[in-house]
Amino acid sequence: MKIKKASNSKMIKAINEKSILNLIYMEGPIPRVKLAEKTGLSQQTITNIVNRLLSERIVLETSGVSNGGGRKPIPLIINGRNMYAIGIEIAVKYIRGTLMDFENNIITESIEQVPIYRDEEQPLKYIFRVVERLLEFVPNREALKGIGCSIQGIVDSENGIVVYAAGVRLNNFPLKEKIQEHFGYPVYLQNDANLLAIVENLNGTLASSRQNITLKFDYGIGGAAVVNKQLVHGADNVAFEFGHYKAFMGKEAYPCHCGSKGCLTTLASLSGLKRNEGYLLEEFSLGVREKNKQALQLFGKLESAISYAIANVITLLNPDHVLLTGQIIDTLTDELVPLLEQHVRELIPESCKKVKLIQLSKTPDESKLAVGLVMHEFFAVPIDQYYL
Ligand SMILES: [Zn+2]
Repeated sequence: MKIKKASNSKMIKAINEKSILNLIYMEGPIPRVKLAEKTGLSQQTITNIVNRLLSERIVLETSGVSNGGGRKPIPLIINGRNMYAIGIEIAVKYIRGTLMDFENNIITESIEQVPIYRDEEQPLKYIFRVVERLLEFVPNREALKGIGCSIQGIVDSENGIVVYAAGVRLNNFPLKEKIQEHFGYPVYLQNDANLLAIVENLNGTLASSRQNITLKFDYGIGGAAVVNKQLVHGADNVAFEFGHYKAFMGKEAYPCHCGSKGCLTTLASLSGLKRNEGYLLEEFSLGVREKNKQALQLFGKLESAISYAIANVITLLNPDHVLLTGQIIDTLTDELVPLLEQHVRELIPESCKKVKLIQLSKTPDESKLAVGLVMHEFFAVPIDQYYL
């Protein structure tokens, strides 16, 4: 992969540095000569960039291995213990924060229970409190590389705006700007399903996949699509809101908080089950297991709606993997997942049948995923824009 020539030298410099950093992160320990080989940059450019990264203590030299009496190439690694990130999960009932270093060690955690959000300033108050507590454990200001936030809701991550998060009572709220102004660190905001997709694609279950879909059945329903290893954003940065896929018609088309009706989330999510059918997830799953007639009927309806929705999306996007996650999948794994697998396969065209349906063993802690968001942004090279 060679770097494209461009007239803007400042931009190229920044991209080159990111490329080097990314390579050391992904493939380190790696010597300078390999960095030159892999990027197509000159030895001198590599030396300049590496010297800068060494002086800022972002990378470290490790002891080299002798290659038969010649000069030892000195491998470089990321100085993960010297860099920190904060991850914040903004949930309906709590704000959870985790401080980690770049070697994935948890330094400390903090949680604020939230009985109810009364206005849009209230989530901020709790977030500030959690971040302040975590900051006490950061050794120096330069060590913290950013604050990542995960939120269940419609998020314009590009501009850091929570477009709509029903449970947290945020509506067109510039959350990134507010947190950034208060603490002075870079802040990254992402919808929970997109975040999960980013982290799983980076170094998780989707690392080897290039085209995939992540679907999260939880308090609401979230979705994320990755095409050619890039998250699909859409014109307004709100692409793939799978919860608002139109799935129910007629008298089953309950109104949705998005303003429409019949959306998948009005029944196939924790909030939908409760609001429109009066079920808590535990009651519902118990009813299904005990073969309660009413619960089974509803289960059949949900399973069918989800199967059709997944099959249609597979038909349109031709992914190699579909990742299923969220509390509904965790709780009803044995009952739901084999049926989804069978019905989706019956519904999709022969040409898409190589697709694999996979699930996470357990829905991960989002505050830790949000730490991954900071790391991802710190090391990311915007490949689609700058590489040939
Ligand atoms: Zn909707």
